[in-house]
Amino acid sequence: MRPHHDVIVIGAGAAGLAAAAELASAGHPVTILEARDRIGGRMFTVHDSKCDAAVELGAEFVHGRPPEIWNLLQRHKLKAKEVTGDCWCVEEGRVTTCDFFSDVGRILRKLSDRGPDRSFLQFLDDCCGKPDQRLEEAKKWATGYVSGFNAADPGLVGVRWLWKAMRAEEKIDGDRMFHVPGGYAALVDILHRQITDGGVTLHKNAVVEAVSWRKGNATINVRGKGAARTFTASRVLITVPLGVLQARAASQGAIRFHPELPGWKRRAIRNLMMGKVIRVTLRFGERFWESLPQKHEKNSRTMGRMSFLFSHDDWFPTWWTPACPRLPFITGWAPFRSAERLSGKSNAFVIDQSLKALHRLLGISRRELAGKFERAYSHDWQNDPFSRGAYSYGKVGGDGEERALAKPVMGTLFFAGEATDPSGQNGTVHAAIASGHRAAHEIMKAKPTPGGPGQR
Ligand SMILES: Cc1cc2nc3c(=O)[nH]c(=O)nc-3n(C[C@H](O)[C@H](O)[C@H](O)COP(=O)(O)OP(=O)(O)OC[C@H]3O[C@@H](n4cnc5c(N)ncnc54)[C@H](O)[C@@H]3O)c2cc1C
Repeated sequence: MRPHHDVIVIGAGAAGLAAAAELASAGHPVTILEARDRIGGRMFTVHDSKCDAAVELGAEFVHGRPPEIWNLLQRHKLKAKEVTGDCWCVEEGRVTTCDFFSDVGRILRKLSDRGPDRSFLQFLDDCCGKPDQRLEEAKKWATGYVSGFNAADPGLVGVRWLWKAMRAEEKIDGDRMFHVPGGYAALVDILHRQITDGGVTLHKNAVVEAVSWRKGNATINVRGKGAARTFTASRVLITVPLGVLQARAASQGAIRFHPELPGWKRRAIRNLMMGKVIRVTLRFGERFWESLPQKHEKNSRTMGRMSFLFSHDDWFPTWWTPACPRLPFITGWAPFRSAERLSGKSNAFVIDQSLKALHRLLGISRRELAGKFERAYSHDWQNDPFSRGAYSYGKVGGDGEERALAKPVMGTLFFAGEATDPSGQNGTVHAAIASGHRAAHEIMKAKPTPGGPGQR
């Protein structure tokens, strides 16, 4: 007879690991099924041996001071480092220091949750007073910010969701950004230790293909490296990304549910959006941008203290570089339309487009750039069958659908993951962890179903 499990968690990203750790610490036996050969999901840190430094392929920043992350770091004596430095902007060939966030803030502060929901582009149509050139420029930067930060289509993202996200950020100092020392890998290590100490069983290379369920019992079909396997459990926590829940049946990574999920759950899955991003981190022989004099700056100031570089570039509009330690890395961020154009292309194409963008923005010759370029790090999250996009956002008219996505089905199927966050913080690691904790408590509160096999 197959062993019957009390709780099975599908997915070992931030949400799945946090939930499993919480359940295990309360004495619940837990098994995790993870499709990839690694844990961490969209937290994916690699090591650059030349610089002995962490390079992120997925999440990089801690946005503000969310307790879900800060408490973990504090307990493990890790001190997050604040991102400091100057913001620079490129506009019509002029490279200057800028107050990017206050220009964008001028527009975003006009967002409101009153009135019918509409898209950010519709909101811009009649927002913010008498049109003048400065206002038009601020609107253009704000559009870039909304599509960049949220990886969102500004014609689809809902104003109500954006408003909610801003309010949520304010509560945790979300305008400040931090790095985890050692990268997000350090957080994955902490979560891994917690599940190991709690006796959680972890199966990697376990791709869940189908969940057949009835009240109090589920059968899970898994394809592994070897033969197919079947698991049964009383309760299943599903933490796979929204993109995977939206994937066409029978495509790799997709999960078939028998019977189908209820209509309200399928509607929530449809009404939330998965944002798109391609990020590429380039390593050069030196931080050449530090010595580039910028003729539009007073005293030909250089970019020595640059943190972020914003532009309206068609391919890679946003860039950033670590100010401390001053490593020869610079990261390009291609959201939404640019990500759509880059996804599925070869690594060589992505690197070439990113180098071309730097050439356009910084005015450094392509030959010189090529001479200084050493290597690049990137990952195509859109074409990764186990993420199918970067992170979620709320579509116009989709207010409240995160709650429906999070809601358990018949005390048997439970849901967590960044897309289930109802507070507007979805798309972050801390929202994923919070959702894992929330789901763990729902599972602990759920009454065991009489007659369900394996009930203790
Ligand atoms: C490029 C990029 C940059 C980002 N930057 C930041 C940032 O700076 N700060 C921040 O806070 N957040 C950032 N995020 C978002 C953050 O990474 C996510 O919100 C968070 O990690 C999601 O955690 P999760 O547990 O919800 O999902 P995931 O981490 O995606 O975990 C889900 C797990 O389910 C597994 N899975 C999928 N399908 C199956 C299946 N069929 N069977 C079994 N297992 C399956 C996956 O392999 C994965 O391990 C970024 C994301 C990306 C892609």
